[in-house]
Amino acid sequence: MSHVFPRHCHSQVPVAVGGEGVWLIDSQGNRYLDGSGGAAVSCLGHGDAQVTQAIKDQLDRLAFAHTGFLTSEPAEALADLLIQHAPGDLDRVYFVSGGSEATEAAIKLARQYWVEKGQPQRARLIARRQSYHGNTIGALSAGGNEWRRQQFGPLLLDVSHIAPCYDYRERAEGESPEEYGIRAAEALRAEIERVGPETVMAFIAEPVVGATSGAVPPAPGYFRRIREICDEYGILLILDEVMCGMGRTGTLFACEQDGIAPDILCIAKGLGAGYQPIGAMLCSRAVYDAIASGSGFFQHGHTYIGHPVATAAGLAVVRAILDRGLLPQVRVKGEALQRALEARFGQHPHVGDIRGRGLFRGIEIVEDRATKAPFDPARKIAAALKKAAFARGLICYPMSGTIDGRQGDHVLLAPPFIISDDE
Ligand code: PLP
Repeated sequence: MSHVFPRHCHSQVPVAVGGEGVWLIDSQGNRYLDGSGGAAVSCLGHGDAQVTQAIKDQLDRLAFAHTGFLTSEPAEALADLLIQHAPGDLDRVYFVSGGSEATEAAIKLARQYWVEKGQPQRARLIARRQSYHGNTIGALSAGGNEWRRQQFGPLLLDVSHIAPCYDYRERAEGESPEEYGIRAAEALRAEIERVGPETVMAFIAEPVVGATSGAVPPAPGYFRRIREICDEYGILLILDEVMCGMGRTGTLFACEQDGIAPDILCIAKGLGAGYQPIGAMLCSRAVYDAIASGSGFFQHGHTYIGHPVATAAGLAVVRAILDRGLLPQVRVKGEALQRALEARFGQHPHVGDIRGRGLFRGIEIVEDRATKAPFDPARKIAAALKKAAFARGLICYPMSGTIDGRQGDHVLLAPPFIISDDE
């Protein structure tokens, strides 16, 4: 009997013993194509010699030094590299151990920013109903996925959740994608006005929505209008690129494609590519300066921030993404994947939508294509899909999410950037 506490208490899963490229291998010798990189993590595939060597070299030099006393060479180098390629005036990097820690830190930084600026009444976070920002209490409060939030309601922060930007379900007949993008973004202004602009500290969103509804890209112009509204009211824009960042959509940061930069940016998953647990929060010069020229102390921290081995892995991963020319490959392979999915499933009676950017693609499963009606949740379509694919040697990431009271099923594909055409 296993003493590991699994998420699914009644399912027995095989023991992974190896990984080669896009393949995972279990103790029985079965091979699984890692079609979702776990959960959009393994962007370089498994067994990358350069990344593992960088980790070994760092371990030989130094495993750990607490950042309360010392910084480390890999942390400094990774921060420099990220800032060199980051959009806008993002200027400082705060390293953490994963995605939830990154968004949690972002929420606290936004709050402290306003306290330092002498506006302590700004405590309200606005988020979107179609979103997932992590499982810790603050991050879960920001997320809108009802299924994940349900039983924790009494513990959650009071966050405003506005309508998502969800072309497939929300764009009106006769409305152009551009018109819809503006209309969807204006929901932010309406909520700011409703709660009182002087009480709002920040708006948080995923540029391409991941786990809640399967690689949903924004409508054209949506984020430009969001940026304008945030600027108009002086509200901080936090972008959560934990899943869609680090090259997954074909640019290092997903928001580059929307022509905007946030005040705070969260990354994780692909940053460590699964070789080490690492995440990061990047913030603008103005946000950093508010703390530096105010109290001079960010009231937040974890034991493993800036971990030398984790940052050494992150440094090797980002160098690999940039130096091996993987970003243009993600764009080309992503288009090929979209075409292949459309050719194979485009007319399938239960496929409602196929979408995404780069190697971040989602398929929305519906009971009725014409009405877009989802399946009855009791049928547990996503769980059945996951099982059926796994039995055939494919790891994909099907999820059910409740948005605006409707249950929807989708499959997320996020294969390693090194995947070949055949694979
Ligand atoms: N934010 C987004 C957009 C995510 O997709 C996730 C995880 O799926 C998280 C945050 C939380 O990251 P982690 O699971 O590393 O805590």
